[in-house]
Amino acid sequence: MNVLLIGPPGSGKGTQGERLAELLGLQHIAAGDLLRAEVESGSDLGARVRHYLDSGDLVPDDLIIELMVPHVLDAAKSGGYILDGFPRTVAQARIAREIADAAGATADVAILLDTPRAELVRRIMARAIAEGRSDDTPEVIENRLQVYDDATRPLIDFYRDRGLLQKVDGTRSADEVTADILAALHDQDVTPRP
Ligand code: ADP
Repeated sequence: MNVLLIGPPGSGKGTQGERLAELLGLQHIAAGDLLRAEVESGSDLGARVRHYLDSGDLVPDDLIIELMVPHVLDAAKSGGYILDGFPRTVAQARIAREIADAAGATADVAILLDTPRAELVRRIMARAIAEGRSDDTPEVIENRLQVYDDATRPLIDFYRDRGLLQKVDGTRSADEVTADILAALHDQDVTPRP
């Protein structure tokens, strides 16, 4: 099974991605984590992407595709993926779909973690205190939310038009959200019914 998680910053993609990977035997691939690992490793790619992460702007499509696609194809070959934070623009989604279709690695479902802005800001500020991520400052948070609205939100219609979209209420507790996602996977008919 191949699953896409879409949702604004703070909607719980990372938490749910980890849980579902464990529960369903999928590989959790988080775009932000892979990008931060590149920056920390001091690689060329890391040097090229660093300022985008620090400002909350999107990394250019060609760089993120180059980074993500090999992981996605590998995971699809070994049991399936749960992708968190990629694709994040319609252009990324179109290119990724072409490559995935050719490799038999197409997504089966796109889960939207629907969460209102006030709740997102509250959660990200709480995480900023706990984790100290360099892009969790008020200005950068505001920019990441705006970038989501401008560039990523259009993906909702893209996946709805393809019949892949399942919407889940992201404001509920983490356990409830996990249960709702599992139910949505059944509705989409991508997991066997108990
Ligand atoms: P959040 O969802 O909380 O903003 P992420 O860890 O998913 O955090 O992403 C952190 C940063 O990594 C983004 O602000 C952006 O700069 C970059 N990034 C992540 N995924 C993508 C993507 N698919 N395309 C372009 N840039 C990305």
